[in-house]
Amino acid sequence: MELDLEDGTQLWFVDQRTFGHLLVAELVPTPDGGPGGYGSPLPALPEPAAHIARDPLDPTLDRAALARRLRAKRTEVKRALLDQSLVSGIGNIYADEALWRARLHPRRATDKLTQRAAVEVLAAAEDVMREALAVGGTSFDALYVDVEGASGWFARSLDAYGREGEPCRRCGGLMRREAFMGRSSTFCPTCQRPPRTPRP
Ligand SMILES: [Zn+2]
Repeated sequence: MELDLEDGTQLWFVDQRTFGHLLVAELVPTPDGGPGGYGSPLPALPEPAAHIARDPLDPTLDRAALARRLRAKRTEVKRALLDQSLVSGIGNIYADEALWRARLHPRRATDKLTQRAAVEVLAAAEDVMREALAVGGTSFDALYVDVEGASGWFARSLDAYGREGEPCRRCGGLMRREAFMGRSSTFCPTCQRPPRTPRP
């Protein structure tokens, strides 16, 4: 789709995955009073997107405050990382990578984490996302390409996701995969000790 704006600017909407749409929406204030996003200093968000939290790469994100909110939840750490109302942009692959780097088992209870551990896993998620972005994301499929037509080479350097049965790159133990929320978690059972009393 192509829109011609009044000042002569052209806006192109190119949706490779065909999940997207365009709409005009009301603005509502951001919960933390910070800017709504890149390109505008306004502390406002489109109403349909207002429930989506800041992502780890957002320069306005307060990581320590986010870590406290994560620890206030009574859930498992991987579920919290995937909760878009808490922090957005971390998908299944990036969550597994961040948890492996921070040596946290995906089922660890959020309310039992130290502030330091919570900050560490959020920082790891940010690092993973930065590294992935620098090389073009994780998607292999030839359909999912960047603006230059290149597919995601980052997937070749993953440490956790997709490495079930392979040796952990840190300790050499075998990586394990468990079912999780209709998908799976891949982790090192040695580096990422399971919780003693998992949540039901
Ligand atoms: Zn290991």
